Amino acid sequence: MAEVKRVAIKATNQLREVMAKHFMELGEAAKMKNKKIAWCSSVGPAELAHSLGFLVYYYENHAAILGSNRTASDYIPIANAHGYSPEICSYLTSDIGAYLKGETPLTKAYGIDKVPKPDVLLYSTNQCREVYDWMTFYAHEFKVPLLGVNTPRTQRQVREDTVKSVAAQLEQMVPELEEIAGRAFDIDRFREILVISRECSRLWEAVLETAAARPSPLTFFDACIHMGPAVVMRGREEANDYYRLLLEELKERVNQGIAAVEGERHRFYWEGMPIWGKLRSMSELFSSLKACIAVSTYCSSWVFSGFDPKDPFQSMARAYCSIFIVQDDKAKEDYIAEKVEHFGIDGILYHDARTCPSNTNNRYGMANRLSERLGVPNLIINGDLNDLRCFSEEQTVTNVEAFVEQIEESR
Ligand code: SF4
Repeated sequence: MAEVKRVAIKATNQLREVMAKHFMELGEAAKMKNKKIAWCSSVGPAELAHSLGFLVYYYENHAAILGSNRTASDYIPIANAHGYSPEICSYLTSDIGAYLKGETPLTKAYGIDKVPKPDVLLYSTNQCREVYDWMTFYAHEFKVPLLGVNTPRTQRQVREDTVKSVAAQLEQMVPELEEIAGRAFDIDRFREILVISRECSRLWEAVLETAAARPSPLTFFDACIHMGPAVVMRGREEANDYYRLLLEELKERVNQGIAAVEGERHRFYWEGMPIWGKLRSMSELFSSLKACIAVSTYCSSWVFSGFDPKDPFQSMARAYCSIFIVQDDKAKEDYIAEKVEHFGIDGILYHDARTCPSNTNNRYGMANRLSERLGVPNLIINGDLNDLRCFSEEQTVTNVEAFVEQIEESR
């Protein structure tokens, strides 16, 4: 593989500080018991929890850290031995396995000896049923309430009866959350949080949009790292401050023509989840082939521009029912087609993540349909988000190299 040179994104130092603040606050609150803690799924009702003064801990983010530091494969067998199948979500199995072993990567990173104990567990099945199954384990372990929203999936369009149902479910959570929080719900505070969260979405979307420039100032792999605050701190001003800084730097990189991939020749779309334990090696592989993955479904999933403080519950319900993962294939294909055109994409990469069917979209003919429709070739990469036993690096390198060669030859 050719040596990869690149100009580092300076804002990464601030990113580390912002993320550290988030975890240190949680660690402190768990230790001092001075603030209530809500565990929440990544596209769940975090804004509601924030408005009631909860600190929010995201269990999927914790699982992604286990994937990134490649300890997930040590913990998955522990959950398997506890009755959780190797075929189900490896976020769930690695996280539960780590818990059963009494370990967390937060210890090494932030000196937090165990995951912060929740006062309430929140979920939304808009992304998958697994978040519910995952949290039932912890509801039993910690003996705390489990509250959530059940959202229909595979929608042709967002139906008003669905929005009404989800909005009603959100409102129904309020009395119990008030009791756990020990404070009254303040609708004006909820509106304020939605505005802050919407601004986070706007800024994060603007960050991703800079990748439309040629050459692109960031790649999918960078975005996977920098999306942290949009996932775990939306609804907090610190996230917005961070994205203002990052956006300024990326715009400057665009003005100066600083490329994320030196000599960028090919531009790809990444559909599906990251392979967390292989971010660096995959980033280096594509860079060495002068290929920039400029856009992805995954990193765009934390854009909730529909939040409206004038209609807080309905607009939040509509935003959470409109995410990509909820849609049917036709809507997903239209979404990808628009991005392929806008970002000038030469090829689409589908990550077939063994243990996450919800975030794997190539299994029902989409790859062929879209390639035919757009005249853009595709490559399916078999792997997994956390379980590296499902990923062959050697095979993937061979396939990616052949794919790039094929595109090169067709020019
Ligand atoms: S969307 Fe996939 S990876 Fe995420 S929690 Fe659900 S099954 Fe797991």
